[in-house]
Amino acid sequence: MTAAPDTITGSDHSVAKRVPLPEIEPAPNSPSARFLVGLFVIVPLLAVAAAVPLAWGWGLSWHDVVIGLVFYVVSGLGISMGFHRHFTHLSFKAALPVRIALAIAGSLAVEGPVLVWVADHRRHHKYSDRDGDPHSPWRFGDDWKALAKGLLWAHVGWLFNPNRTSQSKFCPDLIADRPIHRMSRLFPLWVAVSLLGPALIGGLWAWSWTGALTAFFWASLVRIALLHHVTWSINSVCHTFGNEDFEVRDKSRNVAWLAIPSFGESWHNLHHADPTCARHGALRGQIDISARVIRWTERLGMAWDVRWPDQPRLAAKLTGLRNKPLGAMTRQRLDKSGGRVTPLWR
Ligand SMILES: [Zn+2]
Ligand SMILES: [Zn+2]
Repeated sequence: MTAAPDTITGSDHSVAKRVPLPEIEPAPNSPSARFLVGLFVIVPLLAVAAAVPLAWGWGLSWHDVVIGLVFYVVSGLGISMGFHRHFTHLSFKAALPVRIALAIAGSLAVEGPVLVWVADHRRHHKYSDRDGDPHSPWRFGDDWKALAKGLLWAHVGWLFNPNRTSQSKFCPDLIADRPIHRMSRLFPLWVAVSLLGPALIGGLWAWSWTGALTAFFWASLVRIALLHHVTWSINSVCHTFGNEDFEVRDKSRNVAWLAIPSFGESWHNLHHADPTCARHGALRGQIDISARVIRWTERLGMAWDVRWPDQPRLAAKLTGLRNKPLGAMTRQRLDKSGGRVTPLWR
């Protein structure tokens, strides 16, 4: 993450005062804002439960599956490649149209405006699994009861915390970034597109109201619920269970079974070991779809200064617990014959 300026200058021009910025906004989230969060958490979950009887024989067509899959991939990549790797950690630089597309795509996931998401996530990295982390599963202790409570907190409970992470403190770069700040302010519009877009496409495709309704159900509600849970699992599951391939000071872990639905985000142990690295699945065989898309974008000349895994730096952090070598896209790797450093690509 970028270093946020830790001070502001006082308004008195004669004496430039430097005082620390507060990390929590002075005004907490209103009860109505928290109610809205609850609505977005619970309604899609109820939708999934109600979906089971609908799935048999009627109420679900391949149109819904295709529309749902396209929206899942676009919004999921928007979160992983956009909100997380580009906007939060500056793992790569990109052309303005790409940045705007990523800001909109991530907003379609309905996980909050980009500035809110980035501020929370930068605070998570600053304090990971310590006091100040907005969503650590270890918040209540490490016995099984405290951990069960902590998992629920890390997964979803933290969203109801009225304290808001200060954007002035954690993402002044994005506040100053006018096009992205504007996309962040337009969040309600992206939510409407995310909810109603599939219904419109489904209705026109099937040329029926039923087509619109089933697409709304599956490709909007169910798709949003699924991606929510995958994203939240990175905060809960990937800070509790899994492999410690790299040395970290927190409890972040690599979780293989979440790699494909999370677009590579579940290689969370490497991510905490080297947060600005553009590839999270840095070991051989670790599928990282976002890293692949970043690579394609780089080849098209629309992304640059990509922070690919750095062999000497990562090798020093390998725990060696599973004896896995670093994988593709690593900038350099030791030549087996003589220990000479050779470029792996380019
Ligand atoms: Zn984490
Ligand atoms: Zn991160």
